[in-house]
Amino acid sequence: MSLFSPPRYQAPFKPYRRDDLTPAIKIFTAAEGLIKGALFGCRMCGNCLLQETAFVCPMTCPKGLRNGLCGGATPEACEVDPSRPCTWYKIYERAEKLGREDALLENNAPLDGNRVGRETWIDVVKMWREREDSPKVTEYFSDREKFDKDWENLFYDIRQPEWWQGDKKYHAPAYEEPISLLEANLRTGEFTCTGEIAPPLSVSETVICKKASWLSGYVAAANFTDNASASARMGSMAASKLCLDSASGLEPVMQLQARDRTRVVIESDVMGAAGLGIKNILCLSGDHHRFGPGPVSKPDQFDMDAVQMLWMLRRMRDDGKYLDGRNIKFRPQLFLGAAGSPFGAPPKYEAIRAEKKINAGAQFIQTQPIFDYNGFLEWVEALDKRNLLDKVYILAGMIPLKSARAANFMVDVPGVSIPPEIVKRMDNAGDKDGQAEEGVAIALEMIEKLKNTPGISGIHFMAVHWEAIIPRLMDESGLPKPSVTTLSETVN
Ligand code: SF4
Repeated sequence: MSLFSPPRYQAPFKPYRRDDLTPAIKIFTAAEGLIKGALFGCRMCGNCLLQETAFVCPMTCPKGLRNGLCGGATPEACEVDPSRPCTWYKIYERAEKLGREDALLENNAPLDGNRVGRETWIDVVKMWREREDSPKVTEYFSDREKFDKDWENLFYDIRQPEWWQGDKKYHAPAYEEPISLLEANLRTGEFTCTGEIAPPLSVSETVICKKASWLSGYVAAANFTDNASASARMGSMAASKLCLDSASGLEPVMQLQARDRTRVVIESDVMGAAGLGIKNILCLSGDHHRFGPGPVSKPDQFDMDAVQMLWMLRRMRDDGKYLDGRNIKFRPQLFLGAAGSPFGAPPKYEAIRAEKKINAGAQFIQTQPIFDYNGFLEWVEALDKRNLLDKVYILAGMIPLKSARAANFMVDVPGVSIPPEIVKRMDNAGDKDGQAEEGVAIALEMIEKLKNTPGISGIHFMAVHWEAIIPRLMDESGLPKPSVTTLSETVN
């Protein structure tokens, strides 16, 4: 057990190389690990964020998330290991008590592998002594303001390496003309819809072309999921490219999750996707392997989280730099998106996470499915309080329910809130056809509300294996079709 954090989930890190470690340093490192382990559950990541995370160690999170909670977190337990509390709930609660919520907005770097498993205290002392503007102990009593400022600067330089330089600011996209049709349509201010197509289990492109043709002319773009629920299918990049090449003319949104990808693979996949003509990318942290059907892979599966991906990809696009500083001569053209979770944690916490994503580079947000309209409004209001609504396009998620079984399944999905009256309506809807019709009626009622909700730019349809229903829903509800069909058309 540790005093201030949930216990460690995995053993402390060990350094990549040990040839430069003297016996004295090894002993010192072991002692530091023991003390910090007992106090904070520290895993010796060498990239300490404790000041930003209200002295709860984020590396005790089983996904190693360093910028906020995942979509499945609950106040009671971690979604990966229900025997432990969610680390990020602890962080938010403690930060609230200490009045340090603002510190949670800083975009924290992924780990620097060269630092893991090594001592940090000697480094801090060295840096303190070498810098002229280090905080002076005497100033703690004589000039507290200056002491606090110098302290903050010192620790900012310690936790934010030169190659990352994360901050709390909003970074507007550094380009003028819309990059994709989806962006162009959203910029018109008209209500804009997107759809979702699950890539097939087989290698056949027929399914993708068929489903893309159903949605073409209705939605501005279609998402291709990326091994959702840790279950293997055709890759999102390949499915997106097949969609792009199909006769449908439908633009893809490539979903890209951090799970199982190192920073190098993320950069490489995005460069490849951009080279293939894919422009919309939805950045996700990803479901843990624990939720997949197969034998589970090793525990440390996340090199980055969605916030870090957005930060890195925005800089590749706008600054033309890889994370290691190399220049990109022809930059990837990317319209970047993120997922929103209105029902995961209390809206005030989810709004912090959304702000980090928007500040990092998210230009559109597609949310989890909305069944509980009032709960959704609370989330929108929390974003509005943080002045986020004019910085991002929000597409409200919708899953049309095809059966009572689907409705009952939703009850236990983390991050989804489905009111009992909706489940009851589906249960009482009679046979298969009656249930599907009731699902359509429920979806149409929700569309009517969402259409008239300020701050909402459109709807994202996730009609799991029922994509053919999307055109009917859009026709019957009078949702507009995309007005911009080529990028040469005037927008703005
Ligand atoms: S619920 Fe998610 S964010 Fe919270 S500790 Fe578990 S994996 Fe981390």
